[in-house]
Amino acid sequence: MQYISTRGGVPATDFTGVLMEGLARDGGLYVPASWPQIARPLKPQSYIETAMQVLGAFTKGSLETAELHQILENTYTPRADGFSTPEVTPLVKLDDNLSVLELFHGPTIAFKDVALQLLGRLFDNQLKKTGQKITIVGATSGDTGSAAIEGCRHAAGADIYILYPNNRPSEVQRRQMTTVDAPNVHALAVDGNFDDCQAIVKQLFNDPDFRVRHNLSAVNSINWARIAAQVVYYIHVAYSYDQPVNFVVPTGNFGNVYAAYVAKNMGAPIKRLVVASNRNDILTRFFETGTMRMADVEATLSPSMDIQVSSNFERLLFDVLGRDSAALSSTMGSFRSTGEFSLGTDTMATLRGLFTAVRCDDITTSETIAATYKKYGYTIDPHTAVGMHAYNVLKNELEGPVVTLACAHPAKFPHAVESATGVRPTLPAALADLYERQERFTILPNSADAVRGFIEKA
Ligand SMILES: *Cc1c(COP(=O)(O)O)cnc(C)c1O
Repeated sequence: MQYISTRGGVPATDFTGVLMEGLARDGGLYVPASWPQIARPLKPQSYIETAMQVLGAFTKGSLETAELHQILENTYTPRADGFSTPEVTPLVKLDDNLSVLELFHGPTIAFKDVALQLLGRLFDNQLKKTGQKITIVGATSGDTGSAAIEGCRHAAGADIYILYPNNRPSEVQRRQMTTVDAPNVHALAVDGNFDDCQAIVKQLFNDPDFRVRHNLSAVNSINWARIAAQVVYYIHVAYSYDQPVNFVVPTGNFGNVYAAYVAKNMGAPIKRLVVASNRNDILTRFFETGTMRMADVEATLSPSMDIQVSSNFERLLFDVLGRDSAALSSTMGSFRSTGEFSLGTDTMATLRGLFTAVRCDDITTSETIAATYKKYGYTIDPHTAVGMHAYNVLKNELEGPVVTLACAHPAKFPHAVESATGVRPTLPAALADLYERQERFTILPNSADAVRGFIEKA
């Protein structure tokens, strides 16, 4: 399988190149040169069997079948520090038409584990082959950091540095980053906010000497391997129904719902995709108006979707512009310089044929957690509630079964859940002693030099 950059400025490369590079050197994002097709399986399959089909197609020519199979077995077979169920992403039926896809059974109880548990092992496999070392540097407001740490701690050739704003993540999120006892893991509490952390990471990546000397690599969802891992559950679920299914996806960075779009392109029977946003509704405004316009980020009850620029949207835009790199580059260029771009009526009609978008504010998020608990006796986290609200708004319009995605375990956001339902959610058994574990982290000033110095010395 060959991959091309959306900006068209670099040669095509294979899966291994895409995995190790993350962002293409022309500033674009890698996408497959064509969509592989996955047919309906003849009999029901396990999660790992579906993963073999899907990731087998994406890694063709880069990984041997037996090699990939071993990696998938290691990643998705239940274990104390991994996924807790052989179904990996169980589907829970709430009523005749509505099911919830639980994506929170990994070690950090949020959906990013599904991809990052695999990414860490893919890195490890590749680094063992080449004897190389890499340095992973990432900024997080909470969920990505802990999932990246859990995913990469076993990759001996990788040193991982996660920057988070000191005193900002929830206690559960912070403890998941600071209680990992592995010499290659470094949690750095920066005296600043999330944007400051991201700006420091950018400065390190933009320092060519430092970047090359430490072989810097990225773990955010611009890495195609993360998208590929997420395509698996959409295909797995879609083929478990005998008619086309609708998915409701809470999203900020457009990563998870883009993976659903990829699954549809690969032949999975998927009807509509619902984009659910919180108060940071750049995507919903875009689907309503045809204009993508940046705004300030506001803090909400669903912090993992408090995002202003949805980076994976570039991959979708590339397709709707007819895979025309020049047109894509000029649109992205104007977005960077003016903070907005608009698409024509025909293009918007194509997009609206695939996606519907709904927003949800904090009051409605809380009410939806309470109402879902009351109606079904089922507890959802605030991110999941944003999707559940979109389902409530659209349920009479959507034809066929609906699956809404549960992106985090309710115990990851205990305050919001307790204040809505009156019941404090409990952590799963594997994390029961989280509050007793020893924390290890370093507080650093808000400065790229301080972080660079720390990495140089470590
Ligand atoms: C990261 C995250 C999201 C948003 O994912 P996208 O990549 O923006 O689609 C939603 N919910 C939770 C709990 C998350 O951790």
